[in-house]
Amino acid sequence: MGFYPDKALYKCEYADFVSGLASLDIGPVCEHDKHRYQLRHDVDHDLDHALSMAIIEHDNGIRGSYYVLHTAPYYNKPGSIDTFKQIQSLGHEIGLHNNTLTQSIKTRKRPGLILNDELKHLRGNGIRIYGTASHGDRDCRLKGYINYEIFDICKPKYRDWSEQSNKVRKVNMHKYKLNYETYFVFNHYIGDTGSRWRITEFDEWHPDFLSLPKHDNPLKAIDDAKKLDNKIQISTHPCWWRFK
Ligand SMILES: [Zn+2]
Repeated sequence: MGFYPDKALYKCEYADFVSGLASLDIGPVCEHDKHRYQLRHDVDHDLDHALSMAIIEHDNGIRGSYYVLHTAPYYNKPGSIDTFKQIQSLGHEIGLHNNTLTQSIKTRKRPGLILNDELKHLRGNGIRIYGTASHGDRDCRLKGYINYEIFDICKPKYRDWSEQSNKVRKVNMHKYKLNYETYFVFNHYIGDTGSRWRITEFDEWHPDFLSLPKHDNPLKAIDDAKKLDNKIQISTHPCWWRFK
């Protein structure tokens, strides 16, 4: 049994992975000051898979954070709010998967207005939102910006503000009652992005990090991470996994 998320993992295997997390001091990202490990899920395309993950984690007594993408096709479909609520009712956090800079560049609408509208929509429907996770849109890679750059306190640690982010008016996240952005609350990150597991330091979070050694087995990567005296974020993307 492998842990490659792009090789047709089934529900029982995700359950194996999650049961391997059960002994950790782990919680949702909004509780990053209370737990050494944070469990994060960027819900890029597949909300059904996110719900499957949320149920498995709940069955294992684990809570995580699910960031819903306001530019994804599922976002405004009938029933999506109910699914967000269902995930929330299982004890998980729902956050915003922030693609506002991309949307602002495309529509010329101010990022603060886009953010305000999405938060109003979610909160007005009973979803509690405490934080954001910046989405790596295709345009981010093409134009060299990061969505979290809409926030005045979220300057990339390895370079200056991007040219694209300089063109928009930055906002103070606390004015929107947001407590955190995921990329700024950990020291090390273990994730399945690109379908292979790797552990990185935040300061290595730049395009070259793709050349860093990757791990075949997430639980092995987590074992390595246990030796580090640091805050660790574990990220799995629902769209990389299959469920029965
Ligand atoms: Zn994303």
